[in-house]
Amino acid sequence: MAETVKLYIAGEWTEGTGDGAYALHSPVTGEHLADIPIASAADIDRAVRAAREAQDEYRHWSAVERADLNYRIAGAIEPMVEEIARIQTLEQGKPYHEESLGDVEEANSYFTEAAEDAKRLMGSVIPTSERHTRMFTFRRPVGVWAAITPWNFPVTIPLEYLGPGLATGNAVIVKPPIHTSWGLLELAKAFDEAGVPKGLVSIIPGGGDIGEALVTHDGVDAVGFTGSSATGKRIISMMGIKRSIMEMSGNGPTIVTADANVAAAATAAVYGTYYNAGQVCCATERVIVVDAVHDEFVDRSLQAAKEVRLGDPFDKGTNMGPLNNEPTAEKMDRHIADATARGADILAGGGRASGFPTDLYYEFTVLDRVPEEAEVAREESFGPVLPILSVGTDDEAVALANRSNLGLQAAVFTSSLDRAFWYADHIRSGSVIVNDSTDFWETFQPFGGAAGTDTGWGRGKVDEFTDLQTMVINLANVART
Ligand code: NAD
Repeated sequence: MAETVKLYIAGEWTEGTGDGAYALHSPVTGEHLADIPIASAADIDRAVRAAREAQDEYRHWSAVERADLNYRIAGAIEPMVEEIARIQTLEQGKPYHEESLGDVEEANSYFTEAAEDAKRLMGSVIPTSERHTRMFTFRRPVGVWAAITPWNFPVTIPLEYLGPGLATGNAVIVKPPIHTSWGLLELAKAFDEAGVPKGLVSIIPGGGDIGEALVTHDGVDAVGFTGSSATGKRIISMMGIKRSIMEMSGNGPTIVTADANVAAAATAAVYGTYYNAGQVCCATERVIVVDAVHDEFVDRSLQAAKEVRLGDPFDKGTNMGPLNNEPTAEKMDRHIADATARGADILAGGGRASGFPTDLYYEFTVLDRVPEEAEVAREESFGPVLPILSVGTDDEAVALANRSNLGLQAAVFTSSLDRAFWYADHIRSGSVIVNDSTDFWETFQPFGGAAGTDTGWGRGKVDEFTDLQTMVINLANVART
């Protein structure tokens, strides 16, 4: 029996005013899980109006009051973790025990860390040229944010905007993809429980049309976008003058140098390929190996790949579930076919796995001798494929890495401090992880792309959710009695 889910608009649970509902089917079982109402442009207008009204009052709350609200939200999420994680696995496909639970368990950190940061968000007192003037700066909330989020971390990515957004005095309207919105709508019950002012938060699932209506809306002051570079470019061209945080695609290389701990590199590369079935912006999308350690890396990767257990994501032993959707599986099919047509060797896997309830379970795949021109090397595959590319020297490794326009998070394996810093100095990537997986992640990690690439500009501190206001007082003009 499919669940009937409601939208969260302007502090109310509603069916919205759009046409009909989206039938959500599970990538895990194929079953019809839920019906999600389709929102209309009128629903967007209502959410924006309510957000504006709520924020006009909320912006005057003190930093400590806002922090307390965030703590109440975090507390309200805690008893819901298992249910949200269960829904997330059903609708997204990630393993419940290995990933989904831990994922949702860290949900409260997005609220508590932002609460602490916002309490310590300080302005400054600036020396002036005149004796009788004083100059100060304050951090003010921007206003109404639209957060447009992807399906790979459907619960936590929206919280990257909601936690700091609320802590700094903003209203936030989230637009998740409709096919992975149920878990987030379940979590939204915590906003009611915590006493979030009505209208300050809305969750309106939908497709690109709903996203477009939101980012171009006159009542929206700022846009937070996490998704593909193609969509990000479209949003930037449409949204007009709005503050933004843009988090986009990656093509994370792992570079394995001549003095690397090759066993550790292989384990990290395999993990970065199967975690969330490779559907991560900082997944290990390609491995660049110097010739001196190529054969050892191949042997050790095939060894490490034996640890990948594709299966029912609710089973305790499973560490890789199905892909989330057919377009992603088709992209994998296409990338593997293109690579082999260009001369790459398939050393493991190579296609869809049989014997599962849906066609979305994909074999863990290792490709060797992948030419740089192959799509799997140039584009983000977003699936469990580990393409190995060979180079002779460190210079060639960096040059190959930098020819990508998706420099989000790179990894380098080396036992030399000198080499580690040399790579950090030369690689064009928002983050460089030394001796760990490209999937390295902390909830508070500054994260974003590198200048000159198509990866966007990410988040560093909560002050990105604020405007700087300067106040000047002329003491000479104070009437004296
Ligand atoms: P996507 O770009 O297809 O969609 C992202 C969101 O944008 C969805 O909510 C979608 O409905 C919405 N959207 C689509 N067209 C729109 C439009 N014209 N106007 C407004 N909104 C629109 O991306 P996806 O397939 O959902 O997610 C996968 C991508 O996200 C990958 O490229 C991945 O690397 C990237 N990603 C980046 C990060 C990061 O932090 N950099 C994190 C996770 C995912």
